[in-house]
Amino acid sequence: MADDAPSIFTRIIRREIPASIRHEDDVCIAFDDVDPKAPLHVLVVPKEPFASLRDMAADGKAASLGHLMVVADRVAKEAGYDDYRTVINTGAGAGQTVFHLHVHVLAGRDLGWPPG
Ligand code: 5GP
Repeated sequence: MADDAPSIFTRIIRREIPASIRHEDDVCIAFDDVDPKAPLHVLVVPKEPFASLRDMAADGKAASLGHLMVVADRVAKEAGYDDYRTVINTGAGAGQTVFHLHVHVLAGRDLGWPPG
């Protein structure tokens, strides 16, 4: 895939591929992970296609990054969960496989600590 090819998440934002969407606004979209690791597993994704947290932070997008976390909490709350985990994998060595920043929101089972 060429470097400028749209990410799989941009294709979801464009409705080119289906997803179970829970929230959308001008800044971000939130949808169910296709391979859930917990009863609730949602991805909160900025519409701007930053590859990683490192890239979005470097661009000074503090307000938008904060908004992603507010939406993460809203998604968990609306799904009925008070206890949940947010995860951002940054870099392949940390488990990132899709290089379009996303916040995982996981809930509904015991979540071990430390994570693997
Ligand atoms: P990462 O490993 O980059 O932190 O997380 C990528 C996540 O994206 C994985 O949990 C994976 O299941 C999810 N994912 C990959 N492709 C798709 C897709 O086409 N649709 C949805 N909804 N999730 C996807």
